[in-house]
Amino acid sequence: MDQDITAVTGFGNCTGCAVCLLTCPVWRRTHDVLMTNCGRTRALQAGAAPEDLEASAEACLFCGACAAVCPSGVDTLSLTAALRAALPQKRMTAGRRRSPASFTYAGRTVLLPGPDLRADALLLEKLASLLDAAVPPCDELSDLAADLDAGLRADPERLRAVTAAAGEASGLVAAEGFALRHLRKWFPALPSKGLGEALLGRCRGGLRPGDLYVVDARAFNSDRGRLIRLYDALRQETGCALSTSLQRAAIPAGPARGTPRSADSETQARWVLGRFRPRRVVVESPSELGLYGSVAEVPVLHLGELA
Ligand code: SF4
Ligand code: SF4
Repeated sequence: MDQDITAVTGFGNCTGCAVCLLTCPVWRRTHDVLMTNCGRTRALQAGAAPEDLEASAEACLFCGACAAVCPSGVDTLSLTAALRAALPQKRMTAGRRRSPASFTYAGRTVLLPGPDLRADALLLEKLASLLDAAVPPCDELSDLAADLDAGLRADPERLRAVTAAAGEASGLVAAEGFALRHLRKWFPALPSKGLGEALLGRCRGGLRPGDLYVVDARAFNSDRGRLIRLYDALRQETGCALSTSLQRAAIPAGPARGTPRSADSETQARWVLGRFRPRRVVVESPSELGLYGSVAEVPVLHLGELA
């Protein structure tokens, strides 16, 4: 057994209560407990090796819903990343694009768009303007976070260089919620927010009853204890419905970063729509804009378009 897994993730605390199954989109799709975090932790407790759990670990969408509801505090996402990292084919991350030295983080709010928002230049420009934020010319921070979630090991030199520059910012806004878990670890003293939370101050007035507000599950679940109050207040104030489960974790539909949208994502989005039957859909995550737009029979827009 890889020592990192035991030391980092507390999987030994898992009681097998299966609460995490109730929120897991992979469970909803497969009904195979071994494909879920519950199955992985119980199998590890019984002596399974990472290679035995490869298919299960690779199927995880990294939505964080299991971590948000686990009563035993199992660090489920670190567990899955550690399992991926323990697979023999995983190697140190190759260096990817770096922001040119001419880009300055110091003293600015920096919007980290990720590839989906970057591909929509008009929306990116609008959101950066609403947030009064600078946009770096490439996605080095979120690329690094995605590499770590994929089980690749960070080159310490690269990690040091990237975080030293970005640590000078006055705040970070991540359009890809999965990155927040890493940003808060790298920059504990820096305010790091998801795009939805950052925009709500300017845009919440445009929400109304009959709207389904699709929360960025990865951002919400990464800080559920705090955000649950903020989003409850939003629901009461505007009358919108929220894409949260009975366990009050956020339900994802979009695939994990680096995974192409598939029939599974569309089925999941249709299931969410079927539960709420909205008159309009408002999404936080740019990556879910196209997904819901392709399956909903009602208007779908990004939160920033309400400003
Ligand atoms: S992170 Fe999401 S997809 Fe992965 S095991 Fe947990 S609930 Fe399931
Ligand atoms: S919710 Fe936590 S304790 Fe319960 S099965 Fe899942 S990981 Fe184990």
